Order: sequence, then structure tokens, then C-alpha cells
Amino acid sequence: MLDITLIGTGGALPLKDRFLSSCIMKYNGANFLFDCGEGTQISLRRQKISLSRINTILITHCHADHVSGLPGLLLSMGNDMRTEPVTLIGPAGFARILHSLLIIARELPFELKVIELKHAHESFSIDGCKIDAFRVDHSISCYGYTLEIERVGKFSPEKASLNGVPMKAWGLLQKDEQVEFDGKIYTRDMAFEKARRGIKVLFCTDTRPLNVISDMAKGADLMICEGMFAEDAKVCRAEETKHMTFVEAARLAKAAMPDELWLTHFSPSLPDPHNYISVATNIFQNTVCGTDGMYKEIKFKD
Ligand SMILES: [Zn+2]
Ligand SMILES: [Zn+2]
Repeated sequence: MLDITLIGTGGALPLKDRFLSSCIMKYNGANFLFDCGEGTQISLRRQKISLSRINTILITHCHADHVSGLPGLLLSMGNDMRTEPVTLIGPAGFARILHSLLIIARELPFELKVIELKHAHESFSIDGCKIDAFRVDHSISCYGYTLEIERVGKFSPEKASLNGVPMKAWGLLQKDEQVEFDGKIYTRDMAFEKARRGIKVLFCTDTRPLNVISDMAKGADLMICEGMFAEDAKVCRAEETKHMTFVEAARLAKAAMPDELWLTHFSPSLPDPHNYISVATNIFQNTVCGTDGMYKEIKFKD
């Protein structure tokens, strides 16, 4: 089961009741924070989410509305007695910016493991989740992410016996694709049925629409995507600032067909995005305007 909470749904500037871009996903005790705009720690506390349990922070890009909450958050995590390392992932150049921000947050009681993304597409396996980072099109280097919980197929003792897999290797194949036992190699497909549908969520903000976004959102249970501008008349403004309109985000969802689309990262000139939701639902029906604190629990389908 994966829990998702939108921590902030504002783009560029916060509003009185809307914090800046951030989202947290929790799986099996591991907490993944996506983006950390100014005030993220306040919104996390409002949602009663423990700061010290955040293991991994994934940054889309180094604009202030996505990173300026980091020093305060990390200081508070230290104050909450966290001692385990925290992994931070961001685009090339992120480490320099992080260390500059940390001039005002020195002496953290935990190690920071910083990973800079160098390629157009990179994959990681973290705390039982598959993380994919894919480059998008913004005014500076920017990445979207998917978090996926893959699920092996059901174990079949008949298949294992038929393929001569010794019983002692059955448990090992649950954990590894292939194992060596008594000098012989056994692969998972020799003892397990086809992989079952897992859980997949996409988080993508600050970009023009790209095919890679809909490609990455295919098969997703939830697609969280920016909708900086509501009216399609603002498409020129979206092009200039390298953002998207509701229509553009909904078209990407229509191409990908996730179970649901949540729009986020709303322009401060858009205090009530809900008034425009039909612009998106006319294209992709299962679209919802994100709000701070919006929560969803995704379970395995079978
Ligand atoms: Zn932004
Ligand atoms: Zn930006």
C-alpha cells in the first residue's frame, strides 16, 4: 500500500492557504518527499507527518519554489533527533546549491547522500521502490519522477518442480531475479507466474508537455502533473515560462490513461483552480484539482 499526500500545490509564490510545490509518498515505513518549497515543513506538520522519518528527498529542479524549504526542513529533522542518513536526488548542479543553502543549516546530526542526475533517464532502487527520473523541458534542468512498487507473480510450486528448481532455492527467488544453487543457475520465471500489476505514481512539474511524460505515466495509478495556467488562452504565457495549461496536462493524461490525474503547481494568479476543472475533465474525465493535504491510499489491485 502506498500513501500519497500533497503538501503544497502552489507554483512560484505561496498563497495564504496554499503552500509551494511538495508531495510525500509513504511505503512500508519509507518516506519519499518530492520537492521542498518554502514552508514545506510547516505544511508537513499541519498534515501531522513526522519530519524525521523522511528518508529520500527528490528535487525536480533548483528554482526557489522547489528547494528553498530544504534548510529549515533538514534543521527540523535534526532537531527531531534523526541520525540515519538522508538521500537527496536532484539535477546536475543540485549539490552546489544544496551546500549553499546549508550555510545557514550547519552541523546536521545525519549524513546527506547527494545524487546528481546526469542522464536523460536514470533509475534507482530505494527502500523497495523503483524510482525513475526523466528529464523534462523547463527554463533550467528539470526532472519528473515515477515511483513504482513492482510485484512479482505468484509462486507456483508446480512450475518450480517442473523446472527442477530445488526447494531450498524457492525463497531466494522471491528476493532475486536469479540465484545460483549447487553450481546451477535458476531464474525467477522458472518458479513464478507472470509479474502482477504493482503500484505506480508519477510526479511531474515545471515543464512544457512532452511525449516522455505520457510515456512514463502509462500504467500509473496516479499522475500528479503541473497545471500552472487554467485557461487555454494562456498557452503563450505557458510557452514563455515553460509551464503547462490544464488542457496540455489533460492531453498528456489522455495519451497515458492513468487511473487519475491530479493537477498541481497553480499560478498565484489562480486562487481557485476548481472553477476551471471542466477545461481538463472535458479531455480527461478523471482529473481533480489538487489541494494542500489531499490524500490517497493506493492498494494493490489483486
Ligand atoms: Zn515551480
Ligand atoms: Zn521552475
